[in-house]
Amino acid sequence: MTSETNALARAWIGIGSNLGNAEANVRLALAALAKLPSTRLETASSLFRSAPVDADGADYVNAVARVGTRLSAHALLAHLHGIEKEFGRERTHRNAPRTLDLDILLYGDSTINSEDLVVPHPRMSQRAFVLLPLLQIDPFISLPGLGPAHTFVPSVAGQTIQRIDDSAINSSAPS
Ligand code: ADP
Ligand code: MG
Repeated sequence: MTSETNALARAWIGIGSNLGNAEANVRLALAALAKLPSTRLETASSLFRSAPVDADGADYVNAVARVGTRLSAHALLAHLHGIEKEFGRERTHRNAPRTLDLDILLYGDSTINSEDLVVPHPRMSQRAFVLLPLLQIDPFISLPGLGPAHTFVPSVAGQTIQRIDDSAINSSAPS
């Protein structure tokens, strides 16, 4: 895939796994992102553990990565699907347990509404497992069309999520 002519963009990628060794899958996914062409892994959040939302199966391990890339958003998505496939992901049914899910959360300040790609990711403002890792790496980030990400945190306070180093950060956890 050639992409060298594209401008440099920043993209935020949501990573999730709840099949197999989920923690290892997320760490390996970060390593795979670091190897994407025309792309540099700038930073990544801690790993978080969260209960499945609208889905079945084991707890998820989640993280958010920020990359600088010259891949277009669609080229990036194609590469992410390639990585998911390497991890043996099978798409059985919607929200099925998965070895690896890679979503484009944000691509610069673009809004994209095509058939196969919607950015900002439509459900990101409602998911603690996206918002908290995202805010860990970029506390002041805004979601195009929606406003500062931190303003959505109170509405996800009921979702159980824990940083894997064991510091609970949801409001219901003991402080
Ligand atoms: P989800 O991540 O919503 O649980 P999937 O990973 O199975 O579900 O994705 C289903 C489809 O969502 C993909 O084939 C992809 O084309 C589409 N999609 C739309 N917007 C995005 C986005 N921002 N990031 C990743 N996939 C997206
Ligand atoms: Mg996905």
